Amino acid sequence: MTQITLDIHRFPCLNDNYGYLVHEHYSGQTAAIDTPDAAKYLAEAERMGWHISHILNTHWHPDHAGGNLKIKEETGCTIYGPAGEAAKIPGIDVALKEGDTVELGRATATVLDVPGHTLGHIAYNFEEQRQAFVGDAVFALGCGRVFEGTMEMMWASLSKLKALPPETTLYCAHEYTQSNARFAETIEPGNAALMDYVRKIDELRAKGIPTVPTVLERELATNPFLRADVPELQAAMGHPGDAVATFAEIRGRKDRF
Ligand code: ZN
Ligand code: FE
Repeated sequence: MTQITLDIHRFPCLNDNYGYLVHEHYSGQTAAIDTPDAAKYLAEAERMGWHISHILNTHWHPDHAGGNLKIKEETGCTIYGPAGEAAKIPGIDVALKEGDTVELGRATATVLDVPGHTLGHIAYNFEEQRQAFVGDAVFALGCGRVFEGTMEMMWASLSKLKALPPETTLYCAHEYTQSNARFAETIEPGNAALMDYVRKIDELRAKGIPTVPTVLERELATNPFLRADVPELQAAMGHPGDAVATFAEIRGRKDRF
């Protein structure tokens, strides 16, 4: 079987969101990953010569689902979103939960429930392509604020993402990397891989180059929120042997940073 590759177009939206259009060229089908800005998505799709057939929402926040109705009206696309918050997803057609799949032409995304930032938050994992759209669950060197769920729930969600193949590319919804880097270096100043990454991030941002997407393998080595199960970090945070408490400590510090 030939490997299906996806064409992914990334573009900035609103203040610090990224928009993504995912195009499967055999079928011509194109998925909008979230909809921060309908006009921008429609213009970018037109520029690429792609027709939006799907919207894949990760969660209900307006910077993720706010453009749904306008894009649906213009394109007649089908809207997929989290079952756990279907009532808050404008125009939703198909409600998804853990293990469900979405076909985009010949490619398949598997749904992961990753609650915490919101209670219904989902991620779309194109397993075969090793490409996952993670919304506001995880960021480069960061993770989403825990608005609706518990720290335990968020840690379980991050643990699920941690278990994906390390070569998986993570398409996060925001360019928060540089401010996350400033925080991460206060948590693990002795982490050489982190310090290398931070230097690279500062170079990229100085030139206005995006730092997203990222790769899971690098995040596993550097992202403090994914490292709450590392004994040295647990000890440094004052919670030896307790990943949830360590995660909660790091998240709390970031919220006050
Ligand atoms: Zn959000
Ligand atoms: Fe967001």
